[in-house]
Amino acid sequence: MANIVAIVGRPNVGKSTFFNRLVGQRKAIMDDESGVTRDRHYGYAEWIGKNFTVVDTGGYVHGSDDIFEESIRKQVELAINEATVILFMVDVEAGVTGLDEEFANVLRRSKKPIYIVANKADTFQRGHQAGEFYALGLGEEVFPISSQSGSGTGDLLDEVVKHFKTEDEENPDEGIPKIAIMGRPNVGKSSFVNLLLGEERNIVTDIAGTTRDSIHSRYKSFGKEFILIDTAGLRRKTKVHEDIEFYSVMRSIRALEESDVAVVMIDATRGIEAQDVNIVGLAIKNKKGVVILVNKWDLVEDKGTNTAKEFEEMIYEKLAPHNFMPIIFTSVLTKQRVHKAIEKVIEVYENKRMKISTSKLNEVMLKEIENYPPPSIKGKFVKIKYVTQIPTHNPTFAFFCNLPQYIRESYTRFLENKIRKHFGFEGVPINVIYKKK
Ligand code: GDP
Ligand code: GDP
Repeated sequence: MANIVAIVGRPNVGKSTFFNRLVGQRKAIMDDESGVTRDRHYGYAEWIGKNFTVVDTGGYVHGSDDIFEESIRKQVELAINEATVILFMVDVEAGVTGLDEEFANVLRRSKKPIYIVANKADTFQRGHQAGEFYALGLGEEVFPISSQSGSGTGDLLDEVVKHFKTEDEENPDEGIPKIAIMGRPNVGKSSFVNLLLGEERNIVTDIAGTTRDSIHSRYKSFGKEFILIDTAGLRRKTKVHEDIEFYSVMRSIRALEESDVAVVMIDATRGIEAQDVNIVGLAIKNKKGVVILVNKWDLVEDKGTNTAKEFEEMIYEKLAPHNFMPIIFTSVLTKQRVHKAIEKVIEVYENKRMKISTSKLNEVMLKEIENYPPPSIKGKFVKIKYVTQIPTHNPTFAFFCNLPQYIRESYTRFLENKIRKHFGFEGVPINVIYKKK
């Protein structure tokens, strides 16, 4: 369910201010997660219970102060390809400018819903001036807003969320895991996909500036059924290095959002690198199941009895505090442990759907809590009375207690570890929340 809202527009109209307003609330939560590098140009937001990803396309192409046309083309291309809804931001103080018109000309090619967001409408009078942007001859409607004060944003978002896809109630694919294969270029993603599908596929597009939607195909391979969110073949032929990064990040986000389990492939000959850490961090942030494959294991020479173990420790160290992801050493080339990898993916998917009965949970966890109660803070004693798993898509455990605000992060980790110790949940991020009772 990838609902993506892209903000496009010339520099200085207020895109990043608006972006921060939309995702600001979430940022604090994301900040807690160590080992996760935050990217300022996309984030998660919510409006009336609907979640979406916001992309500040301007943020991606900033810094390349060379040619504006190039910047416009890239921003708009990204928005057209990836977004569910496009917000074209302009500035009421400045009125219609030549650059706005250039944006409008490129945007006109899009079939996606476009709204003109007339920013800096801080006063009623300014709001009135927003009407002049209808002259751009584009979009469904013009919405005057003030990113600074937030006024007008509610009306805009009410419209935007109407375009979002909703969960299909009678989904024939219910119960079949959706898998995204992620990893740096050259790690072996396409080879893995080809091996799974048992056929050579050639889906590289030559036309610059074209990508296609990810394909959801249902497969049966190695005795298991799954849906592959296919982005591996979408390698763009481009000479500019940053372009590859830029598109691979967008594709990763998109594939992730649509998947249940992310298979993150790491190159055994290179070890775990910063970008691998980012990918795993993204998956965890998105509450997806994660299976790590250390691929090209055949190329590691002089393997001793401890080589895999040491490799594993190194990975967990880089991903700390997250250590719940299974790691499998594969060679797609020699088909070593590929079968096991698929089985693990299915297992993680099942873990993600696992529900623990309230009686069992209380029986086990209240005992753990009794043995190690929350440390008192400023003379306050927290008493946890009851725990239950909440019926959500991701394993979430609510602990009912008298003083939720006095529980430390370290105690949350303790509870998470105990849940894992007793019930497993390998490969799956779990949420621990507190409710006042
Ligand atoms: P971007 O380049 O499009 O990302 O624009 P920024 O978000 O960096 O904003 C450019 C300038 O416009 C900054 O000085 C902001 O403080 C200002 N700005 C943004 N939104 C508003 C608004 O709603 N009203 C006013 N008066 N200024 C704004
Ligand atoms: P992608 O960019 O992640 O899709 O990577 P590819 O699937 O295109 O693989 C990049 C290169 O690595 C190709 O030459 C593959 O044949 C090679 N390769 C993939 N998996 C393995 C493996 O397990 N062992 C070895 N030795 N080479 C591999």
